[in-house]
Amino acid sequence: MAKLYTLIKNATVVSMEGSPQAVLEECDILIENDRIKAIGQQISAPTDEETITIDATDCIVTPGFVDGHHHMWQHLLRGLTVDWSLYGYCCHLRSVYGSLYTPDDVYFANYAASLSLLNNGVTTVLDHCHVINSPAHADAAVKGLKDAGIRGTFCYGFYPNPPVPGDMASAANDKFSPVARLEDAARVRQQYFADNEVDNSLITFGVALNEPPLVSREDNVAELDASRKLGARIITVHTSVMPGDIVKGEVIQNFSTAGRMAPDLVFSHGAYMTKDEMQALQQSGAGVVGTPDTELQMGMGYPVVWKALDQGCRACLGLDITSNQGNDFIVQMRLALQTQRARQLDRKVAQLLPRKTADAMRLATLGGAEVMQMESSIGSVTAGKKADLVIFRCDDIDTVPVVDPIGTVVFHASPKNIETVIVNGKIVKRDGKLVGVDWASLSGQVKARSQRLRDDAAKVDMTNAENLFKAAFEKGMEEAPITSF
Ligand SMILES: [Zn+2]
Repeated sequence: MAKLYTLIKNATVVSMEGSPQAVLEECDILIENDRIKAIGQQISAPTDEETITIDATDCIVTPGFVDGHHHMWQHLLRGLTVDWSLYGYCCHLRSVYGSLYTPDDVYFANYAASLSLLNNGVTTVLDHCHVINSPAHADAAVKGLKDAGIRGTFCYGFYPNPPVPGDMASAANDKFSPVARLEDAARVRQQYFADNEVDNSLITFGVALNEPPLVSREDNVAELDASRKLGARIITVHTSVMPGDIVKGEVIQNFSTAGRMAPDLVFSHGAYMTKDEMQALQQSGAGVVGTPDTELQMGMGYPVVWKALDQGCRACLGLDITSNQGNDFIVQMRLALQTQRARQLDRKVAQLLPRKTADAMRLATLGGAEVMQMESSIGSVTAGKKADLVIFRCDDIDTVPVVDPIGTVVFHASPKNIETVIVNGKIVKRDGKLVGVDWASLSGQVKARSQRLRDDAAKVDMTNAENLFKAAFEKGMEEAPITSF
């Protein structure tokens, strides 16, 4: 079979290899099929093969961003929750909106969300999919991801949206019971992910567990064991989201006590982890994902990523809830970095800052690959790795002069500078536009489905759900100690 070549010429390459991270000037990158074949100066492609050549003069090439925590289904609701706290979100998104989704809603949400991520240079995502109300919802979620051509891990959610919107108690009578859900997860694993290897499949299979108090500690461990039996490559769970979680030690401490901590675990959030939990995280090789935009907005604490790095843990960034904010990953790097700088510099004098821009870039790329157990395949611009690359054009009024290429990407560029995106050797965005997308049709679907969901949600009596969540949140705050470590 003929090989496909892409040759990127004369780029500034932020490889993310080494410490400090290497930046290569006037550099060429040769891609053969799905992998980076060679990196260096004056590289040429084989003359007898067809080659796509990209002139990357005045461009910076980085690895694709890796988003470690994202609820893709919420894409249809973007803008809805910009002024909501976690309490409001739990009431409405997880007790009403999730229940209203049809399988087709899930398909279009996952497809559009994936394309939006690619448009923003995010080439790999962990989809924490807690909208699986039936087997058809699971099929639709997988198809949406696969049709878009993004890389990632589909994490089958065990969360039962209440079949009667707004009535959390109705979940107990759902005919899609926990047993049926587990059987369906096994079906999905077999049907779509028979080969669950990162090197062979763009999308791989994982599981998103429930978080206490939605399940008991014992049931949480049982869910984890069942997920490993299914062959889930990654198992993700929300963790230590509120101050009250410090005294409860419900997830990491529970898994640690049960002897279940391992590198396949990805914990999202975790600002209120205890010292012991952080140590268990470090010793097991499990990862943690900070989601700066949503955490800062919704009362989930300061992003845990720096503390986690200091303790030698695997850490990365995620977008989480894009009904709050958009998919700009550059913003996540900046929020994580600047928030930490503000905290560390409070009433102190220092010429140089304690946290570096290159470290934020690493969290967004190689750090994400490490958390998702994919660092041998992606996360850096390295010969032999999969070709997941972002090309920033940096010759406009906002980016000239380029003094520090990593600084330009993190502090001066924006998604409008992302000219080309390559996933698995395939160009998915070229000349600033997504390739092969019928946007007129897709945008019509997104708008109509969003409107219907919002109209249906407006008819739901929220009294019970609001009282239930308010009591749970207030109890959590009451139990909260004054400070965390
Ligand atoms: Zn989440």
